[in-house]
Amino acid sequence: MNLMNMTATNIGLEIRNRNISCKEVLDEFFKDFEDKGNSYISLCKDYSYKRALEIQKKIDNKEEISILAGVPISIKDNICTKDIKTTSASKMLENYIPYYNATVIDKLEKEGAIIIGKLNLDEFAMGDMGITSYYGKCKNPWDIEKTTGGSSSGCVSSLAYNEAICTLGSDTGGSARQPASFCNQTSIKPSYGIISRYGLIGFAPEFDQICPITKDAIDCLNIMKIISGKDKNDDTTIYYNFRDLNISSLKIGICKNFLDYSDDDVASCVLDAIKIFKNCKIEEINFNILDYVTPTYQVLSSVYAVSNMARYDNFNFSNYFEDDSYEDICISSRTKLFGKEVKKRIMYGNYILNYTDYYDKALKSKQYINKIYSYYLDKYDVIIMPTTPKTAFSYNENFNTDIFLIGSNLTKTPSISIPCGFDRNNMPIGMQIISKNLNDDLLLNLAIHFQENTDFHLKKPKI
Ligand code: GLN
Repeated sequence: MNLMNMTATNIGLEIRNRNISCKEVLDEFFKDFEDKGNSYISLCKDYSYKRALEIQKKIDNKEEISILAGVPISIKDNICTKDIKTTSASKMLENYIPYYNATVIDKLEKEGAIIIGKLNLDEFAMGDMGITSYYGKCKNPWDIEKTTGGSSSGCVSSLAYNEAICTLGSDTGGSARQPASFCNQTSIKPSYGIISRYGLIGFAPEFDQICPITKDAIDCLNIMKIISGKDKNDDTTIYYNFRDLNISSLKIGICKNFLDYSDDDVASCVLDAIKIFKNCKIEEINFNILDYVTPTYQVLSSVYAVSNMARYDNFNFSNYFEDDSYEDICISSRTKLFGKEVKKRIMYGNYILNYTDYYDKALKSKQYINKIYSYYLDKYDVIIMPTTPKTAFSYNENFNTDIFLIGSNLTKTPSISIPCGFDRNNMPIGMQIISKNLNDDLLLNLAIHFQENTDFHLKKPKI
């Protein structure tokens, strides 16, 4: 049994059936572990073995255990873990050890999942290539000359290198789904409010969401079931009940103008992939948001980033006290401890805040995007498009590959990305499915159906 090739759900099943112990799972995990993708910022080996003993005891006592009990999970390092360093890939938080868990971590631990390590990312989740981390960039084993995507770069490189079983990432403007598509993984950005953001280090909280990034859609569903729900520490949360839905006669819109905007291989793969939904009614639509999404997101997310970054004044988090006055300490520590990208966003956000016209315009534009989304999502059960217009690109290139993804963050609607094929250079292609708010279960059901009938998600890179 090669555990590292198995999904979280299947490993959980083997543990429950007592075919393997929690310790054996960890032994297998660490056996050939080298962190080939520079995916991890920290590992919690001792902690995980301690947890494995506790969970094994429950299993041996025949206590009722959950679907993920004993399963190792790797966590993006912008999600707070009590007593485990949480850096958000920034020198500013190099020594930060939270005294509390994010709600999602509490929930996972309660159900017996084992936190195994903290994953690399773009600094404070600002980026789309995984290159702004203080800890260096992650590698994409599908082609190491190409980016993993970002900001959840460590999530996807650890999975692609077979050095994680399942992961949690975050998505503010595509950061879970874009890298998932670049590295042949599955990820869902849930509807706003289904998963608590308490303990997620904020970038632009109105758009931030914690997301599972996994080997398949069943794992996404099982993780979602555990981490979703009302949380007294996050007033935006709601209770969510996952339904088992019939997907045979859905009305699907396919975005013609997004396909036209994409590379040929990407467009033809997605068009081929939708043939799986042959019992559904499929119609072409034009989703006229491409000119608006990126500028709207850039203005709003930078403005929100300004207020989120303001807390890093060096008294609370880092303890470099080289200067005398509060102001000097702030200036010198921010100068030394923030990376270039974070500084750029703070400056850009402050500039925008000085000219409120831009901010007002961005709010209007967001309203317009909301209108388009509501119009089409009322007419169609789901809308399908490529996750990104291109596959993973080289480090010296720069593309706006979040352009199809940002709309779901702006409108707070759910969106899933699943592997749907490969381009002529054997680079993975992702297909995005979006729906109305709170139809996350529908997206997951569709994705599971797709993966039951295809094997793209099972393909692995040569390492
Ligand atoms: N690439 C986008 C940005 O840099 C999105 C980041 C994210 O979703 N965290 O802002």
